[in-house]
Amino acid sequence: MFDLSHSSQINPPQRLLMGPGPINADPRVLRAMASQLIGQYDPVMTGYMNEVMALYRGVFRTENRWTMLVDGTSRAGIEAILVSAIRPGDRVLVPVFGRFGHLLCEIARRCRAEVHTIEVPWGEVFTPDQIEEAIKRVKPRLLLTVQGDTSTTMLQPLDKLGEICRRHDVLFYTDATASLGGNALESDAWGLDAVSAGLQKCLGGPSGSAPVTLSPRMEAAIRARRCVEQGIRTEAHEDGSEEMIYSNYFDLGMVMDYWGPERLNHHTEATSMLFAARECARIMLEEGMDNLIARHELHGRALLAGIQGMGLGVFGDIRHKMNNVLGVVIPPEVHGEEVRQRLLNDFHIEIGTSFGPLQGKIWRIGTMGYNARKDCVLQTLTALEAVLNRLGFRTVQGAAMQAAWDVYEGARA
Ligand SMILES: *Cc1c(COP(=O)(O)O)cnc(C)c1O
Repeated sequence: MFDLSHSSQINPPQRLLMGPGPINADPRVLRAMASQLIGQYDPVMTGYMNEVMALYRGVFRTENRWTMLVDGTSRAGIEAILVSAIRPGDRVLVPVFGRFGHLLCEIARRCRAEVHTIEVPWGEVFTPDQIEEAIKRVKPRLLLTVQGDTSTTMLQPLDKLGEICRRHDVLFYTDATASLGGNALESDAWGLDAVSAGLQKCLGGPSGSAPVTLSPRMEAAIRARRCVEQGIRTEAHEDGSEEMIYSNYFDLGMVMDYWGPERLNHHTEATSMLFAARECARIMLEEGMDNLIARHELHGRALLAGIQGMGLGVFGDIRHKMNNVLGVVIPPEVHGEEVRQRLLNDFHIEIGTSFGPLQGKIWRIGTMGYNARKDCVLQTLTALEAVLNRLGFRTVQGAAMQAAWDVYEGARA
């Protein structure tokens, strides 16, 4: 049996989370989560749900009616959209420029899609022409993209892709988990049919809730499948069995009926996570999405200047990096994991490691959400510089701080 005398109330150490996510949650979000629960059909609760829909329309910059939360981490939002939208046998195109592109491929294959990919080396992104050329060749029903791939820190430009998708009658989805709030995302102006995100990056909350938005076109595509499921076969699809959405939990048609005026019982909305998501959106909209993005740009630029100031290299095509994450080349004089451990143990600062081809080659340092702040950037730079010198990589001590300060003081002037 579990011996309670060896256990105490949860009391995690105070860490400064400067990796690619999760990050420290805004204290306002934590306070909202500590609120007492109410019933799922309490008019106060359904009122909060309606508010959340309206708030996230502002965050996603959309008029889409269906803008709501999928309960689960960001991956739940991705999976709900893919499993609801993809019919078995559909051709999908995934431009892969990092680990999360491979995740989209994997989920799409589980949905029995015929998956086509195009790839660029890690550290690069696609031009609209490369994507259009592939669309012409593959003729997909859906284009599945990642906006910001934290594995490489790159940001795929999406602004021209909606128009291309419209011309070729393709549904256009993006995973904006890592980028939303820190970089521009215009769901309507860019012609996106579905976007999913999570709270634990630039939104300043904990993981566990996935805001999503669906265009009317995407809604129609999902609803068409549900008709078949309910036994109302359409002429175009005689065989209903082919049309079943394979998940109950992630069936967005049912989730829409729960969030909409029908209020058809589905899951029990994750109340505390909804409180968190609501407060994240309130904080973002109070600041204003443009100001929020500008703040991420400023602190990202200061971090970059500091890292370069101490003589470290940065990863990838910097013109296309996300504002909120930086890939830092690990110098050969030190062991990447030893540096991370020193930062954690001696300074309580966490920075990120890397996966796949970049494992052991770069650290990933994030400045996002609640931690997109000057004090967080300067503390991280100072600590990293000190640890590097301790472990044998000599920097001009203090240079990083001066370079970062130059950015801040230039910005103020
Ligand atoms: C961090 C991240 C996720 C995270 O998914 P979780 O299920 O919340 O862990 C998804 N997509 C991208 C692009 C990310 O950067």
